[in-house]
Amino acid sequence: MDSWWQLGEWYGQRGEELAVYQITCPFCMERGNFKTVFHAEKKKPSSGKKLNFDTLECGNCKGYVMVLWSASEHGHGHGLHDYRVLPWPLRYEKYPEHWPEAIGRYWLQAKRNIRDENWDAAAVMARSALQIALRDHGAKGKNLKQEIDPESVNRKAAD
Ligand SMILES: [Zn+2]
Repeated sequence: MDSWWQLGEWYGQRGEELAVYQITCPFCMERGNFKTVFHAEKKKPSSGKKLNFDTLECGNCKGYVMVLWSASEHGHGHGLHDYRVLPWPLRYEKYPEHWPEAIGRYWLQAKRNIRDENWDAAAVMARSALQIALRDHGAKGKNLKQEIDPESVNRKAAD
């Protein structure tokens, strides 16, 4: 993204409204239990594009998050938006929903090992997540180095 005006234009979540149900409270880890306590917006001149600046209050612990979000201007009714949240949870209890389960599982373990300063275990788990992602894309080779080689993916694509 080169500009915040591109937020939600090409990539994001379904719908034209903020996916509050996906946001996890960084303080109590409860998900999607927020009410909007502040809303402001900035419109792009001579365009339908709008950036929303929301402050959400957690219904469980009364903590706050700030959300910048925007719906796609060129969605043509398909409905797309994207957002950024501050602060974000420092503990990881789930991986992004659109990820394959095996990748998410290793990634989660890598993140937890980083938090607990188990550096070797974190590296092994991150390596496994990477390897599965590469294999999902058809990478071939005797080891991870060969699988990372873009030629190995291209060869598969040519088959
Ligand atoms: Zn909370």
